[in-house]
Amino acid sequence: MAANLLLEEDVPGSKFVHASVEEHTNIQLKRWLKCRGLPTSGKRPDLIERCQNAVNNNVKIDLKVDDGKWLNLKKNPTPAESQVPYVPIQGWKKFPSVSIPKHFNHGYIYYYLVESVASVECDSNSSDDDCEDDVHTSKPFTKGMNLFRSGHVKNIHDVSCKGHYFVKASVLASYSQHSYNCTVTLSESSGSILEGTCTCSASGMGRCSHVAALLFALEDYTIEFGTDLPTCTDKLLQWNKGRRKKKNPETIFNKEYKSMKKTLKRQKKPQ
Ligand SMILES: [Zn+2]
Repeated sequence: MAANLLLEEDVPGSKFVHASVEEHTNIQLKRWLKCRGLPTSGKRPDLIERCQNAVNNNVKIDLKVDDGKWLNLKKNPTPAESQVPYVPIQGWKKFPSVSIPKHFNHGYIYYYLVESVASVECDSNSSDDDCEDDVHTSKPFTKGMNLFRSGHVKNIHDVSCKGHYFVKASVLASYSQHSYNCTVTLSESSGSILEGTCTCSASGMGRCSHVAALLFALEDYTIEFGTDLPTCTDKLLQWNKGRRKKKNPETIFNKEYKSMKKTLKRQKKPQ
């Protein structure tokens, strides 16, 4: 098989899952466009039209998607892991204390939060404000992004052990003072997300908005500082303080999550 091109099965979110473009959510459309190196800005009709045009023109997957990490993985395949390791009890240090798996990227988060749950039935009846996560509507994805951007991911610690990378944090709920404890396990070789856990009541399959927030924090960190331990720690002090002003427009975040402002405004309504 040609290792110099990416196929839809190589890159999470690069393949449509419904028969027509219109059936996909905005998050799915943006991810699909992103996989082809196309702009993800604009309103829903723009996104649909752009996708449709790309389908008609048979636009291929961008080899540089997710920082070229999928192409890299295709050229250097890693064995799939069947066992999820136990989370270590000892050895945790203040984040970042060890290197982050170098292949970890946005595509894995998309797969974990959106693609892998698309066909799973949801039977959660929780009415808790912060636990209304519905896997079908990609709410953890959007809410997790909001939590991270509002600086709700606190007290991050990490540890590396026997080929796995573990990161944990306490994530503040959107409204209350309550915080939840989340843990995420990554494979060191492939960078894939093996498991997420959370102490909230919506943590079905470890895919709640709090785990999502921790994943976005980790992604943001790798975009800013890379996956190796930073040599200069000055900039690090400014990281993860909650976003008031616009970030460097070169990063994924502003490109992909322009609609976030609207969501935030809606959430600020009094309870
Ligand atoms: Zn949770």
